[in-house]
Amino acid sequence: METGTSRGMAVKQEARLVGPVVLLGPPGAGKGTQAKRICQIFQIPQVSTGDILRDNIARGTEFGKQAEAHMNRGELVSDELVQRMVADRLAQPDCARGFILDGFPRTVNQAEWLDKHLAEHGFFVTEKGCKRLLVIQLEVAYTLLLGRLTGRRTCPTCGRIYNTNTAQQGSRVEGVCDVDGASLVTRKDDREDVIKERLKNYQTQTLPLVDYYARTNHVIEIDGSAEPDVITSAVVKAIENGNRL
Ligand code: ADP
Repeated sequence: METGTSRGMAVKQEARLVGPVVLLGPPGAGKGTQAKRICQIFQIPQVSTGDILRDNIARGTEFGKQAEAHMNRGELVSDELVQRMVADRLAQPDCARGFILDGFPRTVNQAEWLDKHLAEHGFFVTEKGCKRLLVIQLEVAYTLLLGRLTGRRTCPTCGRIYNTNTAQQGSRVEGVCDVDGASLVTRKDDREDVIKERLKNYQTQTLPLVDYYARTNHVIEIDGSAEPDVITSAVVKAIENGNRL
């Protein structure tokens, strides 16, 4: 049951225009974990291209069939395919107050498409002007990423992410979700050879995005190696401050 306080909080969040937020960072930086928390706090949806693609694969759709082999090799899926998926998702009414993009954009081409798409479809136009994209970069040392990715386990039912390599983020019973008791799964692309390929592709294809956004938007850098709660507070602060701009 909702308490008076949480109801008050929900009303406040419902009225607020959060705008578009992009979470940047290498695979394993914690984008998915943080995006889920931030979405709950601000009551906006998480738009994760990785999750949407995995859902398409599970349902055996045409998109899923086109994407699966690329994903299993740690390569990027074509810009056209992910852009079509993102356009469909952003057209849903729950994106009207804002959304968190997690895993998109991943190439400069996708970032250019996103800028154009938001402008052409009149996203977040207020009397004070158009609400700008807030770009948050989670920074994590390369050496930490490998351990995080090989230890990642996900609940197929509720989506909660655990890690067997860190005591604080493990499940209470090994291999079982604390929330709903489902058996945790390891993603197919969290194998060491595939992880190395994903990290390499991040360096060459996604890292140039930081420069792209630094030219047009203010990029907020947050230390992604800190404790999850510390990172969440920093992201919330960045969004709150971004809201006043
Ligand atoms: P991570 O960020 O941990 O690598 P994701 O779940 O975001 O994982 O993505 C998994 C895979 O899905 C990527 O390695 C890639 O093949 C594909 N993918 C996700 N988002 C995009 C995107 N924006 N452009 C191209 N491919 C993508």
